[in-house]
Amino acid sequence: MENIDWKNLPFGYYPTDYNVRTTWKDGKWSELEVSSSEFISIHMAATGLHYGQEAFEGLKAYRGKDGKVRLFRWQDNAKRMQHSAQGVMMAEVPEELFFSAINQAVRLNARFIPPYGTGSSLYIRPLLFGSGAQVGVKPAKEYMFVVFVSPVGPYFKEGFSPVDVELVRDYDRAAPLGTGHIKVGGNYAASLRPADRAHNDGYSAVLFLDAREKKYIDEAGPANFFGIKNGIYVTPSSRTILPSITNKSLEVIAEDLGLKVERRPVPVEELETFEEAGACGTAAIISPFRKIVDRQTRKEYTYSDKAGPYSTKLYQTLTAIQYGEMEDVRGWTTIIEGI
Ligand SMILES: *Cc1c(COP(=O)(O)O)cnc(C)c1O
Repeated sequence: MENIDWKNLPFGYYPTDYNVRTTWKDGKWSELEVSSSEFISIHMAATGLHYGQEAFEGLKAYRGKDGKVRLFRWQDNAKRMQHSAQGVMMAEVPEELFFSAINQAVRLNARFIPPYGTGSSLYIRPLLFGSGAQVGVKPAKEYMFVVFVSPVGPYFKEGFSPVDVELVRDYDRAAPLGTGHIKVGGNYAASLRPADRAHNDGYSAVLFLDAREKKYIDEAGPANFFGIKNGIYVTPSSRTILPSITNKSLEVIAEDLGLKVERRPVPVEELETFEEAGACGTAAIISPFRKIVDRQTRKEYTYSDKAGPYSTKLYQTLTAIQYGEMEDVRGWTTIIEGI
């Protein structure tokens, strides 16, 4: 076990012992290669560098109460990466290869899995990109799939506390019929400027509107939006939203808690009517909102200073399943045996 201040780890890159890689060439993936280098050597004309042929995933391994290490719904990450690959014409990573790679990356770096009770976990970052050279705009003939891991801290150091977000109208992260629904780097590149500005304005994140009409809530930069009112869990449906596995899981738990679930367009004005609102994704599970401020109109939508009762229950239930504190009745978790 590493001598790390587990409770105070940031959410960021932390070097570990090994990563795993494979290359697709002539229609097939090579044997997985274990590397101890943090670097990859690629052709300067690789399409991943020029034309944005790139996609990534993010999931976590959790050390449970029973000492076992669990992955959460990794099959959904594998499928989503296949959709991303189809979306920007890359070679797809078969589910078995995806699992072998994350399984190996976690095992080889087992000493970096944070102990149970610290709130920390091992973040897993699968990465797929065009590594073949091309100068004309066309898909590469070679692809590289890499998986590395980093121990990451609890998102909320002072506990589960609400944040302020900035709603923007002068930037979009994805075009109406573009790539918002797949997890490609280009969407993130487009969100960096408004996100940086929001941080400078004192907010923790940006909330984007639909790119076509600017009438409906889309999502926060790297996380989906949800609101709760009158016993209903509401989350936007839009072609430009990345289907969050966390959100999909919270919808199921919400129904277990007796909430109705609605997935539909959410007009901006509706923000006023929610009793609770927040963002959801693997990193923080839920970031409850204290306040949403429309940067242009200066209109403010305020929620409670403390996480609301449903947000808290949803957060506690999902994390309890991930840490093996609660029975996983739906088979969402996979135990990595022997570590
Ligand atoms: C990854 C991601 C999310 C969160 O998805 P999870 O599967 O819950 O981690 C939400 N929005 C965007 C844009 C993302 O890239």
